[in-house]
Amino acid sequence: MFKEFLRGRATKARFAFAKAASVAAGAVLAMAIPVTGFAQKAPAAQNTPIKVVASFSILGDMAREIGGEYIQLTTIVGAGADAHSFEPTPKDAKALAQAKVLVVNGLGFEEWLPRLVKSSGFAGTEIVASKGVRTRHLSNNGSAHDGHGHAGDIDPHAWQSLENGMVYARNIADGLSRADPAHAKDYQGRAQLYIASMKKLDTEIKQALKAIPEARRKVVTSHDSFGYFQQAYGVQFISVAGFSSDAEPSAKEVAAIIDQIKREKVPAVFVESITNQKLIRQIGTETRVKVGGTLYSDALAKSDEPAGTYLGMFTWNAGRLIYALQPDVKEKAETKAN
Ligand SMILES: [Zn+2]
Repeated sequence: MFKEFLRGRATKARFAFAKAASVAAGAVLAMAIPVTGFAQKAPAAQNTPIKVVASFSILGDMAREIGGEYIQLTTIVGAGADAHSFEPTPKDAKALAQAKVLVVNGLGFEEWLPRLVKSSGFAGTEIVASKGVRTRHLSNNGSAHDGHGHAGDIDPHAWQSLENGMVYARNIADGLSRADPAHAKDYQGRAQLYIASMKKLDTEIKQALKAIPEARRKVVTSHDSFGYFQQAYGVQFISVAGFSSDAEPSAKEVAAIIDQIKREKVPAVFVESITNQKLIRQIGTETRVKVGGTLYSDALAKSDEPAGTYLGMFTWNAGRLIYALQPDVKEKAETKAN
């Protein structure tokens, strides 16, 4: 997996490189007096990382992988935080006002963002990371809720398939290249390596899950955010209707989900990192179905944890699912839950 550059080291190396380059170029760039457009632009592009704001942790990690030392990153909704109920602060507006690039998911995910963009006066490049993915509609489970805190009926959690992740990476690399053409080659090169890792992991997960009997490939989770994962990897996610981060489901809804788990012989229930875990655990107790642990959907874990990166999150989620759904480790999954 990729390791982040040590910031201090990367900065030093970059300045050393810039110095050598300017000497080689007859010191024209470094000594430029800001008279012409060319002279004003070139040194800045060489020396200063561009300021990039990412709306939430998953995009922050992708931007860091692709931007490397050429960007200075601020992530608005950080690790473990819930982007559904987020309230921006003046600090976020300030970061955005100074940014050259904003990376957003789109598809209605960041409902709080348009107002923040407007109030900050941001006038840079906006990268919509999900641009070009084939979208899916949120399932309603026949209830009045969308099972989820997002407006509209387009499922915004497109990053939950690695194939879409590859689209995200290309969009981010293209956007950074537009905003900072001096480093376009670097962004494209880093994105290519990143995409190669995604492809490898995608194949591995598909193969491992295919080995599990289809009838066992179903789990219950708390909020409706694994639809793209379901499509890509063939695991059926049954979400508890109305169980978004805020909404409490009714007793009737809970009873219905318990019935469904028993009827369909669902092997495992999972909690999600960003949602209330009490109900899922209660359902696990009442149905005697395994609680398979925590899955990460809308936010990464802290950076020092296994699910602290986008690829780490996929490795973690797939690993928990494979472990919990395999027939022969059924009993172990119960004792090892969390
Ligand atoms: Zn969500």
